[in-house]
Amino acid sequence: MTDSILCGLIGTGVEPSLTPALHEEEGRRQGLTYVYRTIDLDTLGLTVADLPRLLRGARDLGFRGLNITHPCKQAVIECLDELSVDAERLGAVNTVLFEQGRAVGHNTDWSGFGRNFDRGLPGARLDEVVQLGAGGAGAAVAYGLLTRGVRKLVLVDQERERARALADSFATLFETAVIETADPGELPPVLARADGLVHATPMGMAAHPGSAVPIEVLRPELWVAEVVYRPLDTELLRAARAAGARTLDGGGMAVYQAVEAFRIFTGIEPDAERMYTHMAAL
Ligand code: NAD
Repeated sequence: MTDSILCGLIGTGVEPSLTPALHEEEGRRQGLTYVYRTIDLDTLGLTVADLPRLLRGARDLGFRGLNITHPCKQAVIECLDELSVDAERLGAVNTVLFEQGRAVGHNTDWSGFGRNFDRGLPGARLDEVVQLGAGGAGAAVAYGLLTRGVRKLVLVDQERERARALADSFATLFETAVIETADPGELPPVLARADGLVHATPMGMAAHPGSAVPIEVLRPELWVAEVVYRPLDTELLRAARAAGARTLDGGGMAVYQAVEAFRIFTGIEPDAERMYTHMAAL
């Protein structure tokens, strides 16, 4: 008989998350007794300051692991005993595994973005890529792009300092890449010479309707990858398709970060395509 596996997701506003359904269904299909709970800080009246207590509690109660999301991905680091190389380089953790009494931090956001990118935009040119948004998701995406060999990355954020800080932290990790920053107003000339665009701001979500990218700059040769996944089809993606560009929605990144977390939690390689199909049906 297999042991039951208990996992969870800590963050604010996580109650409606699709991640529990994704994990539990794949666990069921793998023949596991797999329970995945949301631990919503808002609902519980807790804050980031409660993380050490929550982590200790989860470990003591027999949780196998936790996913960690906004606003806890950096703060959780001080609660951990060990970090994977990539989580340490990124300075952010979205997956914690409890093993042999130790809490080990991983990051599957960047690898999830990368696997989705490889799947959805095979052969995409990576000489020059523009990334809009240098926040939490943006850091993971930039790391994924640079790991894939992007030669020149232009980071654009309405808070230029955020873009600069990310560029500085990655410049030492990816010495052969050129990492520059620009203001949103410079997007037209910057995009005119780029191979691709990754959008990593919240624009396009229901609470932030619209597009952060002026649609007249979109063209057939420019691939466009989106990080927003609620909704899956954003104004930017619709405009990019209308302009004849290859596009990639943000759903796959959400699926593949779960695929990789599932593997870390269970030691079993999940069926990524099955999880992808399941996500699309949710
Ligand atoms: P964040 O707040 O950490 O960062 C957003 C960044 O975008 C900030 O630096 C902000 O200054 C910048 N920004 C906002 N509007 C802008 C504009 N109009 N022009 C230029 N810059 C602008 O948020 P985040 O956690 O990085 O999340 C961003 C989006 O990514 C959200 O929609 C989130 O749901 C999504 N996300 C998707 C996945 C996935 O798996 N697909 C994973 C994480 C986050």
